[in-house]
Amino acid sequence: MPMPPRSPLLPLETALAQVLAALNGKQLRTEMCSTLQADGRVLAQQVVSALEVPPQDNSSMDGYALRCADVAPGRALRVSQRIPAGSQGAPLQAGTVARIFTGAPIPSGADAVVMQEDCREVQGTDASSPAIHVQTQPQVGQWIRRRGEDVKLGATVLQSGSRLGPAALGLAASVGLAQLRVACKPRVALFSTGDELVMPGTLAPQDMPAGAIYNSNRFFLAALLRRVGCEVTDLGIVPDRLDATVQALREAAQAHDVVLTSGGVSVGEEDHIKPAVQQLGHLDLWQIAIKPGKPFAHGRVDEAYFIGLPGNPVSSFVTFLLLVRPFLLRMQGVQDVALPTQPLRADFDWPRADRRQEFLRVRRNAQGGLDLFSNQSSGVLTSVVWGDGLLDNPPSRTIARGDTVQFIGLGDLLG
Ligand code: AMP
Ligand code: MG
Repeated sequence: MPMPPRSPLLPLETALAQVLAALNGKQLRTEMCSTLQADGRVLAQQVVSALEVPPQDNSSMDGYALRCADVAPGRALRVSQRIPAGSQGAPLQAGTVARIFTGAPIPSGADAVVMQEDCREVQGTDASSPAIHVQTQPQVGQWIRRRGEDVKLGATVLQSGSRLGPAALGLAASVGLAQLRVACKPRVALFSTGDELVMPGTLAPQDMPAGAIYNSNRFFLAALLRRVGCEVTDLGIVPDRLDATVQALREAAQAHDVVLTSGGVSVGEEDHIKPAVQQLGHLDLWQIAIKPGKPFAHGRVDEAYFIGLPGNPVSSFVTFLLLVRPFLLRMQGVQDVALPTQPLRADFDWPRADRRQEFLRVRRNAQGGLDLFSNQSSGVLTSVVWGDGLLDNPPSRTIARGDTVQFIGLGDLLG
């Protein structure tokens, strides 16, 4: 009997477009969150400043505020006032200086600050009021931070849909916001399929039966999900039976936005994800033209989105980054979910092309090039720990030492 024709593999780009299209432009609900707790959340409002930052011209040095025109070689200038940060000085009397500290407002009439290292205290006209000699000729404006130089009144300082990091939280606080409107965290139910799987901690290595392996996917998937801002419900391991898979899916779909599974998405007799999801909702099972990876399932179970990742650990890890991460970010309102790539030099040869788009585990070396991990098998998780990124190699492309290739830094994706 002739073999049925091999179905064409789906290009990654097409798969990603379809995964994102399933959202239909819908986003998660939003909620208010304390600015202090909002690291990693996605902003669901514009942050517009209701003030100028800094609110007044102020000193960027400890020193003396003065008028440049008053400075002349050998001239003693009386210190007429003292302005620490947090206080408001008086207008500067002509021919005098104000002792001033970093962050303190510049008194009106002063046009520069001289740092204390460039001044020498001298005897004033009377003992109670010190005076100084300025030892350099100051320039108008020096060591003055201008009002509004950081943020102008009415400026949009953070855009809706941006992911908040430490610097953004500081900026929001600098315009007075203690609360921010953010997308709710996607609630994700996670389970692994496979009768060979054993949870670490339940059996010691020496007691593992033949054919058993520890469930590693659960651990990195839970961590990856949290890195993209999700709340994870861990449903453990589900046995390779249709009824158990249906029951786990039904439970997982309740009160969750997404159900994420690993394993069981091939079309072998022991792979029950496909028929189980089809019983409860609908499913697209794709063979994607990527390596590692390939099988990937996407659909709905009741109201929840369903995503099924391959079981091989590296395939699962890489497919998460390529397809699930963008989906979860877009769900939270992030528009730009493309993988950030940068051109770098390959310091190795990769002579055998694959018809699929490959994501090789590589590491930047001290010479600014990329080294390749020796074993690129989809089960070798050591490669992902060794590497600090993925080399995105187009289909049917070989690599020769010295070629420029596209690098995706894991730190950029997961930071
Ligand atoms: P599957 O996709 O279920 O056919 O699994 C493919 C390969 O990945 C098999 O060698 C499994 O033993 C392995 N695998 C599946 N799930 C996991 C897991 N959670 N942790 C580690 N390896 C797994
Ligand atoms: Mg399996």
